[in-house]
Formats: sequence, C-alpha cells, structure tokens
Amino acid sequence: MPDVFADLVGQDEAVATLRRAAAAAAAVRRHAADQPALALTPTGSAGGAADPGAGMTHAWIFTGPPGSGRSVAARAFAAALQCAYGTGCGECPGCHTTLTGTHADVRLVVPEGLSIGVNEMRALVLRAASTPSGGRWQVVVIEDADRLTEAAGNALLKAIEEPPPRTVFLLCAPSTHPDDISVTIRSRCRVVPLRQPPATAVAEVLVQRDGIAPDVAQWAAAAAQGHVGRARRLARDPEARKRRDAVLAVPRRLTGVGAAFDAASALIEAAEAEAEASVAEADASERAALETALGAGGTGRGAAGAIRGAAGQLKDLEKRQKSRATRAQRDALDRALVDLAGFYRDALTIALRAPVEPVHTDTAALAGAGAQKWDAEGALRRLEAVLQCRAAIEANVKPRIAVEAMMLALWRG
Ligand SMILES: [Zn+2]
Repeated sequence: MPDVFADLVGQDEAVATLRRAAAAAAAVRRHAADQPALALTPTGSAGGAADPGAGMTHAWIFTGPPGSGRSVAARAFAAALQCAYGTGCGECPGCHTTLTGTHADVRLVVPEGLSIGVNEMRALVLRAASTPSGGRWQVVVIEDADRLTEAAGNALLKAIEEPPPRTVFLLCAPSTHPDDISVTIRSRCRVVPLRQPPATAVAEVLVQRDGIAPDVAQWAAAAAQGHVGRARRLARDPEARKRRDAVLAVPRRLTGVGAAFDAASALIEAAEAEAEASVAEADASERAALETALGAGGTGRGAAGAIRGAAGQLKDLEKRQKSRATRAQRDALDRALVDLAGFYRDALTIALRAPVEPVHTDTAALAGAGAQKWDAEGALRRLEAVLQCRAAIEANVKPRIAVEAMMLALWRG
C-alpha cells in the first residue's frame, strides 16, 4: 500500500530522513506521556543517542528546484506527524485529513500574491501556539517561504526561536540562499534538500499513477525537466502542449530586430492569456460569493455604513486578485523561459558533444542546427541571455523590458 511519501519522486534520501524524524516524533510523544517536561531537541544541540527525539526538531526547511516536490514533502511529513501509527500510513484519519487539508492541527499557508504579509503571519503564529486538539502536533506549513515580507519573516523567527512545545514549522523555499530565507531563520531549521528528480523516475510515476502511455510519459518527463506537475500537464493538456510549441518556435523566428520585438510581444501576451485563464474562474466566484455575503441592495438603518464597509471589502478583494494575477503571469512567463532555456541548453550540449539526453527531443534537430551555426560559445551566450532574463524579472524588472532585451540578445547572439 503506498504511504504518504509515495508521491515524492526520486527523493530516497529525503524520504529516509523524514521517516526517521516521524518515528522520533512518535517516540517523543510516547515518552512525554510519562515525562511531560520533555520537549524537542533544538537544532544544533547535541541530542545524544539516549534522547528519543534526536531525529526530530521543531523547524524544517524543504529546498529544491521548482517541481522537485517541496510542498509535497512538507505535506507528507505533516501527515506522518499526525498519523495514528506515527509512520504516515496514508490510510488513517490523521493522514487522510492532513493530505486533504482539513486536519484541525495543520495550517497551510499558500501565498496567492507576491508576498506573505505580517498580519497573516502573526495570526498564524498565534493559532499555532495553542495545544493540538488531536493530542499530537500543531503543524504550520509555509509554501514559498521565500515570499515572506521582512516583517512577516521576523514574526515567524520569533515563533521559531521560542517554539511552543508541540508546534512544528515546515517551510518551503527554492534554496537556503539569504535571498530566499533569512540567515537567522535558516540557522534555526533543519534543511531537507530535494533534488531535481530524474526524467525516468518522473515518467514512471506518470505511467503508474496517472495511466499515461509510456512513450508520452517519457517525452513529457524530459520536456518538463524534472518538474512532476508540469510533466503531468504536458502529457494531459493539449493547450499546455500548444503553448510550449509556440515558445520553442521562437529561436527560428528571430530573423531581425522587428522579429525580435514581435517575439517578445507574443511571449508576454501568451503568458498574460494563460494567467488570465487560470485565475478568471476563481476571481468571478470569489466576487459573487462576497457580493452575496454583503447582501447587495440593502436599505434601512445602517445600510449606508454597510455600503461603505462593502466598498472596502470589494477593494480588498480586487487588490488580492490583482496580486494573484500578477503572480500567475510571472509563473506562466517563467515556465516559457525555462522551456526556452532547455532549447539552448540542448544546443550547447550538442555543440560540446556531451553524452546527455536532450531536454526537448522534438526540437533536438533544430538545436543541432543551432549548435553548428553558433558553436558552443554562441549557444552558451544565448542560454545565459535566457537565464539573465529570468533573474531580471525575479529582481522586479518589468517583464516586457527584460524579454525584449533577451530576444535582441538571442537574435544578435
Ligand atoms: Zn496514518
């Protein structure tokens, strides 16, 4: 029977660490029944062999490239901590409610906008300090902890520095670089590094769990560069495949300055359209729900005040939605840039005659032609132009400006 860790593709080392920690956490709970004062061993302290909690600590960071399964790992570990058997069996109510997001002692922060604010964090930290209702642990999972505002990070740090005895914090971030997570938070956490899963492992999951044909699974796993969710979408969603085809057509369309600007516009507009489609439904239903809750068209005493309050709430909602739309646009654009980087990486490896499989098997011939024309150096310069564009957007350069600069660099070489 697959347990809660089964969804972590190609992460044997991390899974072994988390299994040990879950077992240690269960031991801490058993000992605490006789010795109520026993708490978790803080990270960094010795924690001798006699200490039943040596494998467990109260703050963790899951790092790894996008799609490696940071949040999957954090959720699976949360389930194992709430599991009736202490293993993450995947069957008991503790495991089940954690994975479906309904466990009373597991709080999940999934930022929809560009950052997680201080008020949200303070409220979360406060609730997390209460005694777990199920008698096990209070678990706080923070996805994209790299999007914490500085003030929110400080609020979190305080909680991690003086943790309530039964609270566990699970943070997810791309890396432990100070840009992603503050050095002080990092120093209080145990790090679980996840690697980019190999394409063969991703393909196997698509075949076995999603019933996708082996040849499609193999192609999608390679094209998604180790991103499990992206591989699944490419294998299943014709629209996602069409968008990818359009991105991979960019290199051969770059025939001049005008074409470079056209290609930049097309890429930006495609990302906008994709993002709009992905948030439109949620936007409309949120707005309808809020309008219903506010009772459109009220009269009588207090109605004027209620309308003023309603306007404020609608404004708040619009602000949240706008922030989410911006995030979705950046994510869509980033996916396109990763695909494009894959193309130039293929050209580079072909030019170097490196014995590795191409990322995009369907454009390998085109990458080969590029390799001949540009040589390894030219391919590398183009790959760097794409990566610089990603970095610039991450550093808040306006996407259109960054993409135009990249297209010109790709054309000029
Ligand atoms: Zn269980």
